[in-house]
Amino acid sequence: MSNVLVLNAGSSSLKYQLVNPVTSEVLADGIVEKIGEDVSRVKHEGVSVKVTRDLQIADHAEALKVVLDLYEDLGPRLSEVGVAAVGHRVVHGGPTYSAPVVINDDVVAGIEALVPLAPLHNPANVTGIRVARQMLPDVPHVAVFDTAFFSTLKPEAYTYAIDADLAKQHHIRRYGFHGTSHQYVSGKVSELLGRDDLKQVVLHLGNGASASAVKNGVAVDTSMGLTPLEGLIMGTRSGDLDPAIIFHLHRVAGMDLAELDDLLNKQSGIKGLYGDNDMRKLETDWYAGIPKAHLVMDIYRHRLTHYVGAYAAVMGGIDVLTFTAGVGENDPQLRLDMAEALSFLGFAIDREKNAPRSKEARNVSPDGHEGPQVMVVPTNEELAIAQQTVATLDGIRVDLAD
Ligand code: ADP
Repeated sequence: MSNVLVLNAGSSSLKYQLVNPVTSEVLADGIVEKIGEDVSRVKHEGVSVKVTRDLQIADHAEALKVVLDLYEDLGPRLSEVGVAAVGHRVVHGGPTYSAPVVINDDVVAGIEALVPLAPLHNPANVTGIRVARQMLPDVPHVAVFDTAFFSTLKPEAYTYAIDADLAKQHHIRRYGFHGTSHQYVSGKVSELLGRDDLKQVVLHLGNGASASAVKNGVAVDTSMGLTPLEGLIMGTRSGDLDPAIIFHLHRVAGMDLAELDDLLNKQSGIKGLYGDNDMRKLETDWYAGIPKAHLVMDIYRHRLTHYVGAYAAVMGGIDVLTFTAGVGENDPQLRLDMAEALSFLGFAIDREKNAPRSKEARNVSPDGHEGPQVMVVPTNEELAIAQQTVATLDGIRVDLAD
């Protein structure tokens, strides 16, 4: 009985996956969207079943009930395949949580106390945890934090140059996000190359996007900050900008805080520059030679080059550059262009290895290439959460046995 039910509760969604953390087999997964709206949508997919249902689902408790009923009706029945634990994705662990933790009432309160740091995400995560603990009371629940992998950052990497007392009082520092993905991907790279002593840069390029510098298996820098807004250009988020733009827009355009928050988090990035956050559209227009698409892609790549160069400097060198997530895994042209832009560091790419789409982790550098390697490693956050859930519980069992 080693399956883990992984839950990722958003403000109006609940993603779930039942996965075996040892074999990586996904038994069934899905998503409930538009929770609380007039019509909610459930998509559920098992080995031999795929259904989409439009229902009215008032809240996360109802959503989870629907999910559990789907497992019961369409299989696999949870009672038959067994659920060892529930792993919850939690976005912000703040200064409190630097590793996954078994959930009890104190942990729920602890995650709730971090709501001011992540007002969009942590409330939904807490709701997901509450309803799941009520409906699945007989199995342990573990919280896996998106920030935890970056708790190893040193003060010089995580400190913002603002009033130190104010920063301390309000817990303002770089936390980093997508940590589960960066940890999983950098770990896979070490495994594939058979080496832990690597200076790695991981580019997680999805709708959200982040870069990390990982030296000898330990995170030393990352592009997201107090919130996921900082860093790379993303689907709808601006990434880095001069903070004075915010004051300027307030003064010249009369925008208030809520409007600015919406602008920078939801209307910026590729969407702001090109009108649509789907990189596929930008890519298609790039291939069609549309000048604006070339300009936007150049802006996107410039930021990436900037970060990889900076992280090579921070680590005193670079051995591997790895691409992951929707864009990183599926856009061979981007990888090619990045290897070219970074050829001064010794990067090279084998076009034939780089071109095909694949779900396999792979090295796309030329055979026998002596310099730093370019890799593509599909991320799998659900599997990583399931594995960390089991590892956390195993760790506790070992402690108890000692
Ligand atoms: P998230 O989990 O952050 O929502 P994903 O990792 O699923 O995001 O990535 C979504 C992004 O990947 C979208 O911008 C999508 O356009 C992009 N993407 C998917 N396929 C391709 C492709 N073939 N080429 C370029 N971008 C792609």
